[in-house]
Amino acid sequence: MKNHHKIIIIGSGPAGLTAAIYAGRANLIPLVFEGIQPGGQLTITTDVENYPGFPDGVLGPELMDYFRKQAQRFNAKTIFQDVTKVNLSKRPFSIFSSEMEYTADSVIISTGATAKWLGIESEKTFMGHGVSACATCDGFFFRGLEVVVIGGGDTAMEEANFLTKFATKVTIIHRRDKLRASKIMQDRALKNPKLSFIWDSEVQEILGKDENGKKTVTGVRLKNIKTGDTSVYKTEGFFVGIGHQPNTKIFEGQIETESNGYIKVKPGTTQTNIAGVFAAGDVADSVFRQAVTAAGTGCMAAIEAERFLERLHD
Ligand code: NDP
Repeated sequence: MKNHHKIIIIGSGPAGLTAAIYAGRANLIPLVFEGIQPGGQLTITTDVENYPGFPDGVLGPELMDYFRKQAQRFNAKTIFQDVTKVNLSKRPFSIFSSEMEYTADSVIISTGATAKWLGIESEKTFMGHGVSACATCDGFFFRGLEVVVIGGGDTAMEEANFLTKFATKVTIIHRRDKLRASKIMQDRALKNPKLSFIWDSEVQEILGKDENGKKTVTGVRLKNIKTGDTSVYKTEGFFVGIGHQPNTKIFEGQIETESNGYIKVKPGTTQTNIAGVFAAGDVADSVFRQAVTAAGTGCMAAIEAERFLERLHD
């Protein structure tokens, strides 16, 4: 069959490309759809210092280039197309891009998750230069600085608490006067002496400077929603902690998800409710969301897909 593959991998972050390395080494010649953000979320960060094997750190886009090259070395085919539609109701599964239809005996979904952003222009301007949506990834760079965290849920509390290990002062800016976070996370945040709160406030703009191409954040312009007053609050770091969205739109109605929208997998595996369809990385993980855990589950998915194909063949 034309355009038929034993394994199609949708997504090219650490999970998808690790699955491609393993499937490639198993001689399965996987096809990887790179999607709209080839390399995934790491390509929008700068230094990655917590990926094992790089004692001096590595740039996110560079790391993902290494992943891709390693997958290609084992005959994985990576294509710069976005999947627009899938049909997982029967085997072979159908995967559609804007250009054509592909079929596969097994599918690995590794489409990741996307951090929610406020949507203001200055977020893009200072992204990776003082603006981040991942404290675990970037917190270390804010050692000795003052930072703000936006949001009132568990993500914001967790990020803020984590950041107090590095920053001298962390301020949570929330649009209401009540937190949405769980009681235990709220208590931890409220008791932390390095944490303070600004209530009822939304961010209008992130302020900063650009000196010879070196961009830095210097503050935020806030608007108090109750009084309408605007003010400038000084800060050197801006963390958005308003949650993540798993990238599952094309699978809607076809695959079982958790109540929070993440793809449901059988505990300890990458198996979804559809035999032959596996999910790896952030799309099935609302808890850890790390490159190294995504790579780990990508490896699991490829091994499980290989075993599934063997059984199919038998
Ligand atoms: P939530 O939806 O729970 O909270 C999002 C927060 O961001 C809310 O306070 C919301 O404000 C605020 N917000 C949303 N959009 C905007 C915006 N445009 N501008 C300003 N503020 C905004 O998401 P979380 O990611 O925090 O949590 C998701 C789930 O994951 C929860 O079930 C949580 O318990 C879980 N989780 C658990 C963790 C843990 O246990 N360690 C860690 C992280 C998440 P408002 O309150 O006004 O709606």
